[in-house]
Amino acid sequence: MSDIASWSTTTASPEQTEELAAKIGSNLRGGEVIELVSDLGGGKTTFTRGLVHGTASNDKVGSPTFTLSREYSTPKFKVAHFDFYRLNEAGIMANELAEVIGDPAYVVVVEWGDVVHDVLPDTRMTIQFDQAAEDGRTITIGYPENLTYLLEDLQ
Ligand code: ADP
Ligand code: MG
Repeated sequence: MSDIASWSTTTASPEQTEELAAKIGSNLRGGEVIELVSDLGGGKTTFTRGLVHGTASNDKVGSPTFTLSREYSTPKFKVAHFDFYRLNEAGIMANELAEVIGDPAYVVVVEWGDVVHDVLPDTRMTIQFDQAAEDGRTITIGYPENLTYLLEDLQ
């Protein structure tokens, strides 16, 4: 298990969350796994939209709640976006997830990942969103040392 550091910030609007995410997205290299944790409406999909935008992708990010996974193209890698909301068992989706984890050609983003925690690597970044006000979110980022570069230009 790698040591986890943590950094916390607040955003006051969805646009600010997207901006923060875009900075992290611009630092992605491929091979990273990011788990997003919050209640419904916390901002996980909004964050993913900013993250993908920050990779210089032109793809449109939507909620994969009903499709379970989506894939976006970027100049350097693909982003695999999973959402396991209301899934009691990951089933075949766990295999699909395991296939892209650790592949440097993919960045993996997971919403509602409890059901696949045994598939997620310890070396992932975990981002938690807590509603601080109607449009305010406290965003807490936990990360192993080897992912410190993702927060460059932020801390
Ligand atoms: P989740 O994927 O966690 O269910 P979404 O990103 O789909 O959440 O929805 C978040 C909702 O909260 C959106 O309607 C968004 O406009 C709103 N919102 C309000 N303030 C913020 C904020 N600071 N950051 C992110 N989303 C916010
Ligand atoms: Mg969502």
